[in-house]
Amino acid sequence: MKHIKIAFILLAMLQTFSAYSQSMKALVGGTLIDGFGGVPIRNSVILIENDKIVAVGQQGSLEVPAGAEVISTEGMSVMPGLWDMHVHLMINGHSDYTHWDSTYIDILDPVIMPASAHQLLMAGVTSARDLGAPLEASINVRDRINRGEIPGPTIYVSGPFIQKAPYPNTEAFRWGVNGVADAKAKVKKLADAGVDVIKLIDQDQMTLEEAQAVVDEAHKYGLPVVGHSHRPEEIRMGLKIGVDCFEHTGLSSAPEYPEDIMLMIQERAAQMNKGPLFWTPTVEGLYNYESVRDNPEKLDDPSWHLDLPDSIIADIKASLKYPGRMSYFQLTPVRKPTLERKFNQLKQSGVVMLIGTDSGIPMKFHSQSTWNELDVWVNEFGYDPMLAIKAATYWPSVAMGVSDKVGTISEGKKADIIAVRGDVLRHISLLQDVDMVIKNGKRVK
Ligand SMILES: [Zn+2]
Repeated sequence: MKHIKIAFILLAMLQTFSAYSQSMKALVGGTLIDGFGGVPIRNSVILIENDKIVAVGQQGSLEVPAGAEVISTEGMSVMPGLWDMHVHLMINGHSDYTHWDSTYIDILDPVIMPASAHQLLMAGVTSARDLGAPLEASINVRDRINRGEIPGPTIYVSGPFIQKAPYPNTEAFRWGVNGVADAKAKVKKLADAGVDVIKLIDQDQMTLEEAQAVVDEAHKYGLPVVGHSHRPEEIRMGLKIGVDCFEHTGLSSAPEYPEDIMLMIQERAAQMNKGPLFWTPTVEGLYNYESVRDNPEKLDDPSWHLDLPDSIIADIKASLKYPGRMSYFQLTPVRKPTLERKFNQLKQSGVVMLIGTDSGIPMKFHSQSTWNELDVWVNEFGYDPMLAIKAATYWPSVAMGVSDKVGTISEGKKADIIAVRGDVLRHISLLQDVDMVIKNGKRVK
């Protein structure tokens, strides 16, 4: 009797083990950049079971269980899926926002936002922060992706922008705030609907009390607040009220951040108990404008057509016929030379910078934006490529409060992994053509 029991237990163990192995994937051989910023691991082995990373090691010391599906990553750089911390799923490179908003508002949810999301995923972006879109559509698209019904990165949504007053005909995705009670009510409505972050803009046009109420109410629900930083007073106000993450370099064509703002940022960055102050400079759209204008071949790249109907592709193409004539970009050549200085000021001020792009703005497609941001940081501004990758993997997961679940390649994390042939630390622009994308343990490219 005793022997039979033991045999049963052994059999059960064997069955468990073989089931375990069959659902297991092993990525074997490539150089692993795990997202933490340390020395890359050569001849790496990553074991994935279902949607999780269960073991990370090296050939020779970490054994691949029998029955596991082995995927060779020889010759490749293997790294966490990229995050893009500033995307706009509701737009797709069209040059005329007024036309776009009035024409496509009803198909943002079923067509436009899912297409943008799919394009990001194929570009190696497995997590993205969507900053500004109609509330229901934002939640719906995020949740359909989470349920596995449509392909896309894990999306963290803000829903509508919170600002002093919406611009004409943008009420579907911009909510005005009038008074403290209204500020609290609007944030509560977003929190109740399940947004992941609050997007605050034009905070310098609010009263201090209104702006403070937005941040305090958001924090009450555990939601981080991102704030625009286009004008000096927006930054000052944002720092006063406790914004968690600033967006853009801002300040138009002014050459640098004024001294008092630098001191305020340093003062905030010095307070470890508050956690890091994050900043998403979103430089590539501005920095690369002139090169796209002068060589618009990449506008013809079909990567941004994915999942978009032909009529919309034609509409976008027609709107981009004269890349040099858009009023949106006329000041850009004056702003461009100021970007590096502002970027370096931020870098030296103690903020933690994040990769984000404003993807979706005129001529900026979800299929191309993210790698371009990394490229400008590294190849134009001399940013350490390892730290740039960390700003696109580990730090975003911290900013969104999910670093215990995703953002690095380590045991227990969600298996969001990309691989690209060649050495990305030497040639960051290799990320323009990612060879393999694994999201939630499933190979999607
Ligand atoms: Zn934006």
